[in-house]
Amino acid sequence: MAVAAAPSVAESAVTLRLRAGEHYPRTAVEFNAWFADEDACSAYLERLRWPNGIACPGGGETGKVWHITRRALRCRACRHESSVTAGTILEDTRLPLTVWFQAAWLITNEKDGVSALSLQRALGLKRYETSWLLLHKLRRAMVRPGRSLLEGAIEIDETYLGAAVPGKRGRGAHGKAIVAIAIEKGTTGKKSQRVASGRVRLARIPDCSALTLNAFVEDVAAPGSLIHTDAWGGYSQLEQLGFTHEVINQSASGDPAHVTMPHVHRVASLLKRWLLGTHQGGGKPVQLDAYLDEFVFRFNRRKSASRGLLFYRLLEQAVEIEHVTNDKIVAERKPRRSRDLLEFIAEADDDDIPF
Ligand SMILES: [Zn+2]
Repeated sequence: MAVAAAPSVAESAVTLRLRAGEHYPRTAVEFNAWFADEDACSAYLERLRWPNGIACPGGGETGKVWHITRRALRCRACRHESSVTAGTILEDTRLPLTVWFQAAWLITNEKDGVSALSLQRALGLKRYETSWLLLHKLRRAMVRPGRSLLEGAIEIDETYLGAAVPGKRGRGAHGKAIVAIAIEKGTTGKKSQRVASGRVRLARIPDCSALTLNAFVEDVAAPGSLIHTDAWGGYSQLEQLGFTHEVINQSASGDPAHVTMPHVHRVASLLKRWLLGTHQGGGKPVQLDAYLDEFVFRFNRRKSASRGLLFYRLLEQAVEIEHVTNDKIVAERKPRRSRDLLEFIAEADDDDIPF
């Protein structure tokens, strides 16, 4: 009889070896069977949140917290009362957990994501606002808390979203949303011409000054990383910040951007095409922030063999991130400055590189 090797100490302590059909559902049939009611959803969230046993939110001790109901908890040591969802993005929700689970399943099973309207229809929600809030809370959970910095060789560039203003092209252009892109360069197989990319980070930035770009690079890249950029002056201080900086001089090489900076160029193309396809290509820049988060979540997990695993990761992050009020989410998505009122429009590049 074959016996599975026991996980090493490092594996069992740091990462759980996730198995389809055990930790996450493989199919819609399995999903429906697992998450038929509130108790089942609550028990699943509890395991995601406290894989090593419930820790008391009041004192932090484990082994002393008991269930009052399936969802409500009480600590025997300090009498602190809590719940499985308290302190997470699911706190204070009036929606059944089954609806949250169905939403997370739909969002992760659609390759390109869903709109608030299609989510409302699929879940049979009465109000569009309910669907919109649900979608935005789950998008928020797509940003991994305390996520690690990119490492190794990294390409960094910016891309512009918005109709071209005649005479104002490139980095000085007005009326555009600027998105900074950083992506790890993977190893490319000898025979394959395909570009192998690692993890990506995106951020909407106000301008392309050295101050702004320095902050972006420090936010996303581990100290000592090798940073590839074009010859733009805004990147000239990276060596001083402790990075190894290599300028890829496009105009000198005579090659177009998709040859000299293939990774970052491909991300820009995919982002624009995705915005066009799923989000009708436009919106306010503040909405763009949420779209960028969703794009990064999907891109970094694009090789996941299982959509069920994406579902698992999304819910795992939903119980990791802190509770935010509905009012805060609505307020954040409202334009605050006049610059935020500008519409952005994604246009597909002529030289799109397919997946
Ligand atoms: Zn306690």
